Amino acid sequence: MAESRVDIEINRDWCKCCYLCIAVCPLNVYTCSDYVGEKGVAIPLASNPEKCVQYSLCEMMCPDMAITVHAKENGRVCAAN
Ligand code: SF4
Ligand code: SF4
Repeated sequence: MAESRVDIEINRDWCKCCYLCIAVCPLNVYTCSDYVGEKGVAIPLASNPEKCVQYSLCEMMCPDMAITVHAKENGRVCAAN
């Protein structure tokens, strides 16, 4: 498996489990996780981050601004991102 060039964070307190991120990501980075949030629905998970090309469609489409896609640099999160 290729190493991921990004870290994808989903704020579990903000996510309302609409699954728009799963629907819009053309590279199938997201899947449903087993973690059930406070709203009683499974929070999505970035289970295939190595596929992400970091063009931020999911960040822009998330209605609750719950997603952050960080670029890694030399295996670390890039502070300039
Ligand atoms: S689009 Fe945002 S609010 Fe909707 S499931 Fe994904 S992270 Fe949660
Ligand atoms: S940035 Fe693009 S490729 Fe990466 S997870 Fe979001 S929608 Fe998918």
